[in-house]
Amino acid sequence: MDMGECIEQRFQPILETKVFTKTGQVKKMKVPDIMEERMSFSFEVFPPKAEQPMEPLLETLEHLYQFKPDFISCTYGAGGTNAGRNVEICKALKDSGKTIPVTHYTCIGNTKAKIRAELEGYLDIGVDHILALRGDFPKGWEETRGDFDYASELVAFIRSNYPQFTIAVAGNPEKHFQADSFESDITHLREKQDAGADFIMTQLCHDVDHFAWWLEKIRRAGVYLPVDVGIMPVLVKESTIRMAVSNGSAVPRELAEIIARYGDNPDDFKKAGKEYTVKQIFRFINTGIDGIHIYTLNKWKDVADILMAAGRKPQPE
Ligand code: FAD
Repeated sequence: MDMGECIEQRFQPILETKVFTKTGQVKKMKVPDIMEERMSFSFEVFPPKAEQPMEPLLETLEHLYQFKPDFISCTYGAGGTNAGRNVEICKALKDSGKTIPVTHYTCIGNTKAKIRAELEGYLDIGVDHILALRGDFPKGWEETRGDFDYASELVAFIRSNYPQFTIAVAGNPEKHFQADSFESDITHLREKQDAGADFIMTQLCHDVDHFAWWLEKIRRAGVYLPVDVGIMPVLVKESTIRMAVSNGSAVPRELAEIIARYGDNPDDFKKAGKEYTVKQIFRFINTGIDGIHIYTLNKWKDVADILMAAGRKPQPE
């Protein structure tokens, strides 16, 4: 078996998400349990704007389920904008019985009382996985204007008040853009681990060699949590550049060449970008990563093309 085949095999869906306890009872696995057994596979979606219909996203989810994601995460607008829609989607994910819903959640503008009410709301609908974030400051803000300044404080609050939650936190392989140094950023990542986080979900990073360097650096700094890499499909020139720049993320030569060569032709760009994304999936698997998380941008057709090219075939019910 060659290396490519071997990597493709690691990318195949494994449907078992149950374990047997010592007493023989069946227990649903949580995301970190899955990562302990094998590489996890997951998607991110975002809620439609308030005035837009839900149906297209619900239809998108039906297509995404066919790729047997271990979990699907749903973004949360900083400041709680669109929070109702986030809950609606998390509930739809839970009610489908087809995957584990993971809600994103931020400190922006949130008091402890509001956080309590919203966390209890998630638990009431059966959502017990949360990505605990500080959140990006809305335009003109320089602080969270809530009861917590940093994600580590939110993690500690959730861990001590709602131990039922499995907690993910953000990791920034290229350093959070506001951090003074890699060292301080990794120290703060470690603080999130110490506060009770269960796994790390990373910001987009196109530079896989740099990612491997960061992975080693955080391990040396005592960060032992499983790491789920976020992969941003390369589909549209403008958004590829905008998202890299706004996260302070590098554009490696191979991607820069795709932008230079195909940037004026959206169809050719998308074709080359999809091929590039498939290679990136294999490269990240090769780093020995604990999970692959695809930022779907709610575009299931493009994501399906990428996954099928990477050897992960849809499995209709
Ligand atoms: P923190 O971990 O709190 O870090 C923020 C900054 O403060 C860093 O520079 C850090 O080094 C520094 N810092 C941390 N602790 C301290 C301390 N004690 N003292 C001094 N400095 C400190 N945003 C949304 O609004 N909604 C979403 O749904 C969303 N989803 C995301 C999903 C993923 C996978 C990722 C990676 C990010 C997501 N974000 C989302 C973006 C995220 O909110 C931003 O990156 C935000 O700027 C930082 O959030 P954080 O949780 O990493 O913050």
